[in-house]
Amino acid sequence: MDAYLCVSIDCECDKGEGWRVKKPLRFAAVTAGIAGRLQPLFAQFGAKPTYLLSPEVLRDPASVECLTHLKGSAEFGAHLHGEFVAPGAFEPDETTAFQCNYPPKIERQKLKGLTALFQGAFGRRPRSFRAGRFGIGAHSLKFLAELGYAVDSSVSPQKDWTELGAPAANFRNAPTQPYWPIFPLPGQAATEPGPLLEVPVTILPSCLSQVPLIGAKVKPRWLRPTCGTADRLIGVARDELARFQGMGRPVVLNCMFHNVEIMPGLSPYAKNDAEADAILQRLAALLAFARAEGIAVVGLSDIADVFAPAESLVPQPA
Ligand SMILES: [Zn+2]
Repeated sequence: MDAYLCVSIDCECDKGEGWRVKKPLRFAAVTAGIAGRLQPLFAQFGAKPTYLLSPEVLRDPASVECLTHLKGSAEFGAHLHGEFVAPGAFEPDETTAFQCNYPPKIERQKLKGLTALFQGAFGRRPRSFRAGRFGIGAHSLKFLAELGYAVDSSVSPQKDWTELGAPAANFRNAPTQPYWPIFPLPGQAATEPGPLLEVPVTILPSCLSQVPLIGAKVKPRWLRPTCGTADRLIGVARDELARFQGMGRPVVLNCMFHNVEIMPGLSPYAKNDAEADAILQRLAALLAFARAEGIAVVGLSDIADVFAPAESLVPQPA
């Protein structure tokens, strides 16, 4: 099948009820969660996940050490929770900031700081990015392109984050398949290829979205193992494949969640072992589906290579 699955995981310090940050900062969801639970599962399926790393993770030597020695294939990218990086860095009780609300100069400095932290940790630049709370705005993509990123994955189709305080992050009508975005309008596709590819999170309209009155109230369907059943999760994948197969280009699925979700008590989503295990089992079911369908699980930046404009593949004269 001409299709790819990305599993892109926002990786943060340990949190808890109401997304409250555990203090002093702890990283069990990296050192035990990623290394002990997630990566062995991906390795079992020959899958390559993308771990998008928040500043506090990049600043934690034990986390970096642990990530550096992961077995199997994995991509590391960057994830901005602006509270944790200068200018004006602090340890928040909750990570509530949307980067689109910072003055452009501050947003740029924070992205630069995050990128420098990544480079300090791994000795190379990150190629993939997701904003904390999906909060990119009119300036974000230009800054990311300038910093050498190849893929952004902040666009969350069907979602409008205005009510939570980010009117710039309205992706209600954004495409669900990868596209080259118009930089000041991240939810809209440009007509020409550009330096930065948008790989949106796979979020589909509810089956009831067209029904009058009810339609506006029903929730969209995320390709996300956090809740529901494995059948529901695979149903979202099947529906997106059915919508775009046979249109002459690969279909890309992008499943997101957080590293803290698969550990008991470290996010609002898994209060105990059973709930954490259930999330991991739904992820395993999605990986098994991908394997059975011949869908390769690749990193976010691999998608940029898949969609590289044909002219850039033509050898250039020296
Ligand atoms: Zn986050």
